[in-house]
Amino acid sequence: MSLYPLFADLRGRPALVVGGGEVAQRKIVRLLGAGAAVTVVSPHLHPSLVELVRAGKVAHQEAEFRPELLDGQWLAIAATANHGVNRAVALAAQARRILVNVVDDAQLSSFHVPAVIDRAPVQIAISTAGAAPMLARVLRERIEALLDQSVGALARLLDRYRLRIRERHPDVAARRRFYSQAITGPVAALLRRARPADAEAELQGALVLGQSEQPGSVALVGAGPGDPGLLTLHALRALNEADVILHDRLVDARILDLARRDAQFIDVGKRAGAHATNQDRIHELLLAYARSGKRVVRLKGGDPFVFGRGGEEIEFLREQAIAYEVVPGITAATACAAYAGIPLTHRDHAQSVRFVTAHCRDSLDALDWPALAADRQTLAVYMGIGEVETVSDRLIAHGRDRATPFALIENGSRPEQRIVTGVLAELVERARRYAVTSPAMLIIGDVAALAERLHWFGAAPLGSGADSSMPVDGEFATAQSCA
Ligand code: SAH
Repeated sequence: MSLYPLFADLRGRPALVVGGGEVAQRKIVRLLGAGAAVTVVSPHLHPSLVELVRAGKVAHQEAEFRPELLDGQWLAIAATANHGVNRAVALAAQARRILVNVVDDAQLSSFHVPAVIDRAPVQIAISTAGAAPMLARVLRERIEALLDQSVGALARLLDRYRLRIRERHPDVAARRRFYSQAITGPVAALLRRARPADAEAELQGALVLGQSEQPGSVALVGAGPGDPGLLTLHALRALNEADVILHDRLVDARILDLARRDAQFIDVGKRAGAHATNQDRIHELLLAYARSGKRVVRLKGGDPFVFGRGGEEIEFLREQAIAYEVVPGITAATACAAYAGIPLTHRDHAQSVRFVTAHCRDSLDALDWPALAADRQTLAVYMGIGEVETVSDRLIAHGRDRATPFALIENGSRPEQRIVTGVLAELVERARRYAVTSPAMLIIGDVAALAERLHWFGAAPLGSGADSSMPVDGEFATAQSCA
């Protein structure tokens, strides 16, 4: 079946809905959204419809369906649970040449209601011609994810300037170029940054200047800890618009797969100890690509502002007058905690949480150990796997209980995630025994013990309850310790 797509102007036009249940209610709300004059036919009404009738938004025929009710209608929707009634509505409407939709019945329908992505005034409608409504729903979710809410504002702004743009660029090709710049460049970016006045000024400026070189920009984007499902919608959009992606080594390959296919990918990853690309070089690359008009994504593991040097990068961009935006990511501490079943704060165990880095000797010396050793708080230690000995020694030396629980989460949120649990006094031994490697998050505090009971993702924790002289299989270990 091949359908003719159309968007109907129903403002003030009569439309009939037969049926008074929840399905009818959903159809009616959409019709009202388009300004239709809706009459609902049904002996009984769902409470939410009663409200609409009381408020005078919908007319009600408190009766069974009769064909004459269709007279004068532009379209009809049959949404009763009774196949016979729905069929009668369809046949009567077709006899009168009124477009009719029968809910969940493609054969009886002369029009279909699509799945819609609504960014008014922009609407995207999806139809599978009744073949697979579930597919339409899934496609809708994907497209929803790609279009943020500023799309509607962009359409309204361009609408207001349509005549001026046409006057300024009478030539179609030039006009198209102008629109393309406005839609993919700084005007749209400013709307996303919730700066409508600046967006309009930018558009006006572009109209005065004419076809200038489109300035480049940098989006500092947090890629989260690994699981692509933890990307934000903004991150996904930025990856889809990028010309160049400068990414850290920690960024998962499955996330890079989501980016625009023809983008240029540059690994500027740093390994602990071996700086593949130093920070100055990253600054140089950001500047060079942005100056050449590219949309650059600087993609970082976790959140760009948590131990990610994101601050330095945007300070540099500001000095160089390069436009930037920042898209936060889910930082390793919250992700690892969630994926290990460890609430970072808990009314009974921890009233605060600290994110600290134990990157190297200097950063360790700079930490406020007496404060870190206080109880009733959770420590989330980044980059600590090389320094577990120093961390546990100093915490214990400053008074933290040797029996304080810890959890080490290696490759948090990834299929290969491992959790090693125990108490502070045995941290070094257990990290060694299970050969925990980077990236790993060290969580210290009473809440860490909850992983034993609350874990839900990947392999079960290698907990103290499973101790034996040999490393044991994770699943088996918990089955025992939970018993
Ligand atoms: N900006 C990042 C942190 C960068 S520092 C963020 O917000 O998450 C790098 C450290 O983060 C690693 O040494 C490790 O301690 C932690 N980390 C990052 N991803 C991780 C993951 N998937 N699992 C466990 N720890 C992770």
